[in-house]
Amino acid sequence: MTKLPRDQQWQRKATPDGPRCRWCRRVLQERSGPGRPRAYCSQPCRQWDWVARQRAREVQLSDEQLVMAREELNDIHDALYVLSCAVHDVQKDLADNRQPSARELRDMLTWILECAEPIGSLRLRP
Ligand SMILES: [Zn+2]
Repeated sequence: MTKLPRDQQWQRKATPDGPRCRWCRRVLQERSGPGRPRAYCSQPCRQWDWVARQRAREVQLSDEQLVMAREELNDIHDALYVLSCAVHDVQKDLADNRQPSARELRDMLTWILECAEPIGSLRLRP
């Protein structure tokens, strides 16, 4: 296996959507013109990644390891649980009602979106 330079290793995990931000994993916008490919979606992500790497070095972690506050992990688990329950609810609604009306579909979609909002707006910090 070819070993990529350390600062390019994250690109191996790019998805079919294209390369992702090294910190928040959002898909990066295409950029035309010369210069190095973007690694971050924003300056805050660049800074958070730098801080995380500094802290990882302090406690001798590799680039693939991180330390996370339990409270933040709990918040992620809570938000995932809410989303999971909403998905389950809508799956059940669709199984019980094979021909939902436009209004029922709208209600289901609204419910899923409301429950997805917390996880969609989560931002992690080192
Ligand atoms: Zn980002």
